Amino acid sequence: MMPVTGFEALRELVRATERFLLPNACISCDALVSVREPDALVCGVCLSRMRAVGSGCSRCAQPLPPVGPCRFCAEWTERIHEVRSAVWLGPESRSLVHRLKYGHARRLGNLAGQIVADRVAFPGRCVLVPIPVSHRRLRERGYNQAEIIARELSRRWRLPMWSGLVRRTSQATSQTTLTPMARAANVSDAFSAEPPRGRQAHDGRVVIVDDVLTTGATIDACARALADAGWNTIQAVTFARAMPYEFHAGGY
Ligand SMILES: [Zn+2]
Ligand SMILES: [Zn+2]
Repeated sequence: MMPVTGFEALRELVRATERFLLPNACISCDALVSVREPDALVCGVCLSRMRAVGSGCSRCAQPLPPVGPCRFCAEWTERIHEVRSAVWLGPESRSLVHRLKYGHARRLGNLAGQIVADRVAFPGRCVLVPIPVSHRRLRERGYNQAEIIARELSRRWRLPMWSGLVRRTSQATSQTTLTPMARAANVSDAFSAEPPRGRQAHDGRVVIVDDVLTTGATIDACARALADAGWNTIQAVTFARAMPYEFHAGGY
């Protein structure tokens, strides 16, 4: 038998504490998860109900309107090459995102990262950069949820993560209470980025990572800062994406 080292014992203690804090019930439907998977946070049924974002617009993957080009990404900087999301924001993925933001559950970030790695195509050789949260949010939460997702993606895709590559330059107010137009104005010029250099240059290829995509205004602002700093191939991935209104209404 392997001797139990202090580190392993500590890790098991952390797991046991987490199980106590997050009981073996699905975070979305409260169903008990299988005893064979005591660390699962979402049950198999809820996981299968997270609907994949299919293929639509070649740039942003949003469902295309019946006629004409994609309107969703029309206002974004042309420097954004491709944006992909793993799942639509439905009841199950919303539970995950909510607990990830307002609980202290780092494991949910790892699960979100795992779902992205499973459902989004490998972006090729590049550096991953999480969207930074404001200093105030970081103080309140103690972590950046986008960075936890990016770290898990970095591990699974074997790509480097550069968390300080993009920084916030102004204290934008919380996005959730604003209209789409106010959101765009609120985040513009809110970021600055480091130039690609040395071993961290990766041919100027960068993938922005975030938890949820709503209008794309935050990713757009972040991409503009990266383009200004000299990054030339800018992509983005998010765990979830807000469903378009027409989608709810059955228009598509
Ligand atoms: Zn469930
Ligand atoms: Zn588009």
